[in-house]
Amino acid sequence: HMGPQKVDRQVDSVCPFCGVGCLVTYQVRDEKIISVKGREGPANEGRLCVKGRFGMDYIHSPDRITQPLIRKEGVAKDLELMDGHTDWREVFREATWQEALDLATQPLNALRHQHGPKSLAGFGSAKGSNEEAYLFQKLVRTGFGSNNVDHCTRLCHASSVAALLEGVGSGAVSNPVRDVEHSDLIIVIGSNPTANHPVAATWMKNAAQRGTRIVLADPRITDIGRHAWRTLPFKADTDVALLNAMLHVIVTENLCDESFLRDRADNVAELKAHVQDYTPEAMSAVCGIPADTIREVARAYASAKAAMILWGMGVSQHVHGTDNVRCLIALASITGQIGRPGTGLHPLRGQNNVQGASDAGLIPMMYPNYQRVSDKSAHDWFEKFWDTKLDDQPGYTVVEIMNKALAPDTDPHKVRGMYIMGENPAMSDPDLNHARHALASLQHLVVQDIFLTETAWLADVLLPASAWPEKTGTVSNTDRTVQMGRQAVLPPGDAKPDLWIIQQIAERMGLNWLYAGEHDGVAEVYEEMRQAMAPTIGGIDWARLNAGSVTYPCVNAEDPGQPIVFHDHFPTKDGRVWLVPAELISAAERPDADYPFVLITGRQLEHWHTGSMTRRATVLDALEPAATASMCGADLRRLGLQAGQTVRVASRRGAIELQLRCDEGTPVGTVFVPFAYVEAAANELTHAALDPFGKIPEFKYCAVQIQALTLT
Ligand code: SF4
Repeated sequence: HMGPQKVDRQVDSVCPFCGVGCLVTYQVRDEKIISVKGREGPANEGRLCVKGRFGMDYIHSPDRITQPLIRKEGVAKDLELMDGHTDWREVFREATWQEALDLATQPLNALRHQHGPKSLAGFGSAKGSNEEAYLFQKLVRTGFGSNNVDHCTRLCHASSVAALLEGVGSGAVSNPVRDVEHSDLIIVIGSNPTANHPVAATWMKNAAQRGTRIVLADPRITDIGRHAWRTLPFKADTDVALLNAMLHVIVTENLCDESFLRDRADNVAELKAHVQDYTPEAMSAVCGIPADTIREVARAYASAKAAMILWGMGVSQHVHGTDNVRCLIALASITGQIGRPGTGLHPLRGQNNVQGASDAGLIPMMYPNYQRVSDKSAHDWFEKFWDTKLDDQPGYTVVEIMNKALAPDTDPHKVRGMYIMGENPAMSDPDLNHARHALASLQHLVVQDIFLTETAWLADVLLPASAWPEKTGTVSNTDRTVQMGRQAVLPPGDAKPDLWIIQQIAERMGLNWLYAGEHDGVAEVYEEMRQAMAPTIGGIDWARLNAGSVTYPCVNAEDPGQPIVFHDHFPTKDGRVWLVPAELISAAERPDADYPFVLITGRQLEHWHTGSMTRRATVLDALEPAATASMCGADLRRLGLQAGQTVRVASRRGAIELQLRCDEGTPVGTVFVPFAYVEAAANELTHAALDPFGKIPEFKYCAVQIQALTLT
C-alpha cells in the first residue's frame, strides 16, 4: 500500500472500527479499496490509527459469504464445527435469496403464532448504520411483537448509561474528547485509550504536552501512563473504594462547589453523609493506593480550573459498574466540573456506532431516543407513529435472552427463534460454553453477517450482508457527532445491503413498509428516525449530513449543534443532577486457592472485538497473529514461567491455551487476555454475573489458574 498509486475514485466516509469516528477517504482502484487516507473531521483532523489506515482489506477477504446459505438437512448444531477446520459445504448449501428469505422468515412467523411474540428475539449491531439499527428495532417491535431486542451496548456501557440516565438524564457524553485541550487535569479511569480509542489518545497526549495533568486510574498501567502526572494502579474491583475516598477528601476538606450543589444538585446531604466513613486511610487498605496520593489527586481534581473524566470498560464491566459511574457523576457534580469547556463526563464509546444504535432504540427497555417502553405517553406515541399495537413491557437483555433460550419448555417466555444481524455472541458473550449452547438450542436461528462467524456456524439460515464501505448510511460517534458513510464499492457476489435484507424479512412478516429511494431508502429511513428522535436530532436532516458532520443535540436548522451540554441545567425531570451514594460490592467470583489469579479481558490496538474483521485484515493480523496472556515479571518468576511459553489458563467454566507475554503494566496476581482470538477465546473463562442495573456482565474480573504446558 505504499507510495503514490493511481486510483479510479476517492470516496469520503467514516472509519468502521472504533467510536472515535475518524473521517476517511477510501482510495478505490479496480473496484477494490487499495488504501485509506485520513480526512479532516471534528474528531480526527486527518489523523488515523493503524486499524483505520491498514485494516480495511477485511472487506476483500476470500472468507466473505457471497451467497445465502441454508443449513443442510440433518446436520446437527455441533459446537465443534467452529474449530476453523470444517468446510462450510459440509454444513450449509447455497440458496437463492428468495428461498433463503422465505426459509428465514416462515419459522419465525410459525413460532410467533404457536408460542407468542416473546418466543422471538433479535440482536442488532453497533457496527451497522443508524438507519439499520432503527429499522431492526422497528422490525422486532412491530413484526416480532415484543421488545426482545438488544445489542452489544449491553456488553460495554450499559451500566454507564443506567447511571447517567438516573443521574444527569442523558446517557451520552457531556463534552467531546478533543475538549481535553481545555482541561488542566483529566482523569482517565478503566480505559486503555492508546489501544481502544487511539486517535482520542493522541489528543490526550497533545494536551499533556501543553501542560494538562493526566491521572491514569487503572489496575493496568498502559501506554497513556507514560504521559500521566499520577498513576493510580488500584486493585482490580476496588473502584468504589478509591472514588468514595476521593469524595471523602473533597467533602471533608470543603473543596465542594457549594453554589453548584445548591443550584443544580439533589441528594447532596445524603452523599456527603455517606462518604464520611470512607477515609483515605481506610480505603487505602482496600484499593492499594496510598492515602496521601488519594488526597493529592482529589485536591488537584477539585481545584482544577477545568477537569474532565473519561472512562472505558474497566469502569463499566463489573457487577458494580453502575455504582462506579455513580461515583464519577458525584465527583464531577460536587466539584462543579461539568457544563463548561474542558470539564464533564465522557464514557468512551467502543464501536463505531454503539452510540447511534442505542439512540436508535436497539435496546429492550427503550424506544428511539431513550423513551421508556413502559412510559405510557411514549408507548402511545410510538403506537400511533408506527400505526400498530406495541408491547409495553421491557424486553430481555443480551445475557437474559441467552438464559431464556435454555429455559425449560414450560416457560411461557422461552426464546425459541432469533434473528442476529452483525453480532457475534458466540464469541462476545460471557461464559461462552453457556452462550454457545443457548444459540445451538434455538429452534430457528437467522444470522446476517459478512463472515461465517462463530455465531453463524449455528445458524439455520445465513444471509450474506454488506461491509461498511459497501453501503451508505450514518453513524454517531462517542462525541454525539452524526456522520455520513458512503458506499465505495459493491458487495461481493450476491451479498446484499443490510437495509434491504431487513425490509425483505419485514415484508414476509406482513409489514407494509415503503422506503423506495436510493440505497434501499436510507434517506427516508433516516427521516423517519429523525421524527422519532425529535427534538434531539430534529435539526439534522439528510442534506445537512451530506454536507458535513453535525453534533446533537441539534434542535432546528439554525442550531449549529451542541458539542458541550449541561451548561445551566440537566435533562432530568427537575433539571438537577441526582447524586447516588455507592457502597462497596465485591466481584461475583474472587480468587481462591484453586483459582488464585484474577483474569482481566480486553482489547488490543491491532484487533477489534471478536476479531471477525481484523483477524482477516492482512497487516493487522501480521502485527498481532496469536493470542497472548500478559503477566508481570514478578509473577512469571514466582511461577517459574517465561515469556513465550504456552500456558493453559482455566476458570471454573472453561480453559484456553495461549502464549505468555511479559508486561510490567499488568499487576501482580493478574493476567490480561484479549478476547479477539477464536482459537483461545477469553470468554470461555469469563463469568456471566450481571450488574443489577445495567445488566452488563463482569468481563473485567473472574478467578483463573495458570498451568505451564511447554518449556521455552
Ligand atoms: Fe478508526 Fe478509531 Fe482508529 Fe480513528 S481511532 S482510525 S475511528 S479505529
